[in-house]
Amino acid sequence: MKIAVFSTKSYDRRFFDAANSGGGHRLIYFEERLSVKTTLLARGFRAVCVFVNDSLDRNVLAMLSKHGTDVVALRCAGFNNVDLEAAKEFGIEVVRVPAYSPKAVSEHTLALIMSLNRKTYRAHNRIREGNFSLEGLLGFEVHEKTVGIIGTGRIGQEFAKLMKGFGCEMLAFDPAVNAEVERLGVKYVSLDELLRGSDIISLHCPLLPGTHHMIDAGAIAKMRDGVMLINTSRGRLVDTRAVIEALKSGKIAYLGLDVYEEEGDMFFRDLSNNVIQDDVFARLLTFPNVIITGHQAFFTDTALRNIAETTLGNISDIEGGHRCENIVTAERVRS
Ligand code: NAD
Repeated sequence: MKIAVFSTKSYDRRFFDAANSGGGHRLIYFEERLSVKTTLLARGFRAVCVFVNDSLDRNVLAMLSKHGTDVVALRCAGFNNVDLEAAKEFGIEVVRVPAYSPKAVSEHTLALIMSLNRKTYRAHNRIREGNFSLEGLLGFEVHEKTVGIIGTGRIGQEFAKLMKGFGCEMLAFDPAVNAEVERLGVKYVSLDELLRGSDIISLHCPLLPGTHHMIDAGAIAKMRDGVMLINTSRGRLVDTRAVIEALKSGKIAYLGLDVYEEEGDMFFRDLSNNVIQDDVFARLLTFPNVIITGHQAFFTDTALRNIAETTLGNISDIEGGHRCENIVTAERVRS
């Protein structure tokens, strides 16, 4: 199939070309993000392949459909950037990569926790300047802590395995109990109990209308003083302004973000010669106890290989009229 691949970087091309080495599909790469302004680039392509910050709202989907697209292949797990009701209305099939490497994201989550705890990012900078002082670098032992996991699907489950290795107490909140996670010794509790009882809280649930800003001022007020909050899931799960107030008061003592509410205009681009226009993001950068990575939790060689192979496999299934496991529909999301 002829596929317009949006938001591509050199690493996307490398892994997609390798996955397509048999020449099954014709891939045309665009660096542009898909939006109303760029939709015309996809004219005449039956499939478009997109990533987390491409916009597939009703207007974009209407234009894609008008110009012959009937497959949207997300090369990611989340699908919050697609209007699924509109896709159905326009007869566009939406496919995704539900599990390209849950280990990649859970391992990055652990990296954020350990960096914040032992302050390796600060120590690294100090040593390079000949400052060997330990002032301000005091850490804690993770095994003494209670870890709260919000969302215990594929990534949450892998994260629970890692934290079990530390010997932590673990609490979880998820409307769907995962028996495998329970077997790891994780105790399912209400969201309130998790917020009140955890020293480290890590988000692994999807962004849905019901989870938008689930971590707001009210949720933060219930948390323990000095809590560590980690979000490697989706930026809009967290009300960033409320988090900034909690960082200022000391309620949140550590913040690790791989995702940000308004990341769409910044992440995945080199803006080092530009002035950051987002004042909320700029404020976050001023805190010594905040680490932000630019949506890189997924970014391992294993994950990129799996993403490319599954995405092209999804498109081949649809092209061949086979059953595709990875179709996303509004009905499936609601069920
Ligand atoms: P998954 O579908 O396997 O698991 C999600 C879990 O969240 C499910 O168990 C579901 O029941 C639960 N859930 C749904 N609503 C909830 C709620 N209100 N409260 C608590 N739990 C709820 O998904 P996954 O593969 O584990 O991925 C989780 C999220 O991680 C994705 O939605 C995506 O947004 C994010 N993600 C981020 C990256 C990255 O690079 N930073 C990469 C992949 C995925």
